[in-house]
Order: sequence, then C-alpha cells, then structure tokens
Amino acid sequence: MKKVQIIASVAFAMLLSAKSYAQYSSTPPAVSPMPMKPEMTEIWEPEVTVVTPGKTSADAPSDAIILFDGKDLSQWVSAKDGSPAPWLVIDGRMEVVPKTGDIKTKLKFGDCQLHIEFSAPDEVAGVSQGRGNSGVFFQDRYELQILDSYQNRTYRNGQAGSIYKDTAPLVNAMRGPLEWNTYDVIYTAPRFKPDGRLDYPARITVLHNGVLVQNNTTILGLTNYIGLHMYPEAHGEDVIHLQDHGNKTQFRNIWIRRL
Ligand code: MG
Repeated sequence: MKKVQIIASVAFAMLLSAKSYAQYSSTPPAVSPMPMKPEMTEIWEPEVTVVTPGKTSADAPSDAIILFDGKDLSQWVSAKDGSPAPWLVIDGRMEVVPKTGDIKTKLKFGDCQLHIEFSAPDEVAGVSQGRGNSGVFFQDRYELQILDSYQNRTYRNGQAGSIYKDTAPLVNAMRGPLEWNTYDVIYTAPRFKPDGRLDYPARITVLHNGVLVQNNTTILGLTNYIGLHMYPEAHGEDVIHLQDHGNKTQFRNIWIRRL
C-alpha cells in the first residue's frame, strides 16, 4: 500500500471516531483533530465493480441472475416435489395454474435485490384475500404479499405490498388488473447466533411501481397465516418461492442480484 494511502486510512479512521464522538458528546470538537488535505479522505482501492445497467429500470443489470425472461421455467421447479414447474408460459409471461401448487427457484439466496413484475388475473373475481392472491417468499419463509388490491379491501397487513400479516404497506400503489405491476425489493436475511437463536431479524425495502411501500422494515418472523410471527429456527440461504393461491396471477421479467 502506498504511504499516502496508509496516512489517508489512518486519518480517515480518526475522522470517523471524531464524528462518532461528535454524535454522542455534548462538546464535540469544532475542527478536525489534525490538519488535513483533501486526499486524506479519499479511498481509491479496491476499485468499485462496474455493472452495466439495463436500458430501463426494469431491465436486468449485467450482474443479475435471470429467473424468468418470458421463455421458459428452467429456473423453477414445483415446491412440492422438485418436479418441473407446472405453471403456464404464454406470450412471454408465466401464469399460475390453480391447484398445481407453489413453485420455487432451483437456486438459493440470502441478501438480495429482486425485481419482479406481476399482473392480477384479467377476470376480476372474488373479494378480499380471494382476489388475485399470490406472494413472493424470501428464503422460503417470509412473504411479500401479492394481491389484487385495486379497489379491493382486505386487512391492511394482508394487501399488496404488505409483509403478510406482519407490516402493512405505506400506501396502496396497485394498478388495475389489466396492467402490470413491479416490485423492486432489497432484502436482508436474518442472522443467527452459533447456538441458533436470532441475532438480528430480516429487513426489507420494497418499491411498488416505483413507490416506496416498505422502508427498511423489520420482518418479525415466519409470515404465518395463523399465530404470532417468530423465528423458530436458524437457517441459511434458501429458495425464493411464488405462491399458488388458486388465482391466475401472471408474472414476467424476474431477476435477482446477490448482495
Ligand atoms: Mg399470498
């Protein structure tokens, strides 16, 4: 390491400690603890990795794993038994085939950025939780609800954009059933101590059609239909799964980045 970089690193560490001192002390230092030059707070190495973004915010960037590009379900299997995913692929989208069961990714993920587009069934049927219900489960456990929440009341912590029966979305940004919706998600997996107890819970940020609906929300545990949410056991990376709740929800353009 070059001498100037070492000096810069030491100075930067001192600056950070001075900053944290300033946060907690009633008499913060008015100036830097030593005379400083601009380069002393510049970090050059390692260079930040270059990623080529998509043409629009919906397109996958160059380091994304494509989970569905409209062609086939090769990245997915039946959640029940690992057999080929039983949902329909038609005109560049996949559609839930009711009663065939959930599907899951072949790959496992922890911390991630996920982009997924979905549309409620074209034919509006059912009310409340019965209308356009599906869901994205992170690590096979924590559900970001998908529902047709366009002019369809249900419990607030069970509508589109909710962490199911956990935290309601900040607003309802749902489009009509003939239109496509996007979720852009930043998910941080829970961490566990060596003895299996929870160290810190999962967190999630969700943009629904570009509108913030979950802002670094703490996920309180398994998003059970019945009962309180908690973390009963330690786990590592796991699959993303999509729910068959008996409605013909459609999906397209799904990609993910490991973080
Ligand atoms: Mg659901």
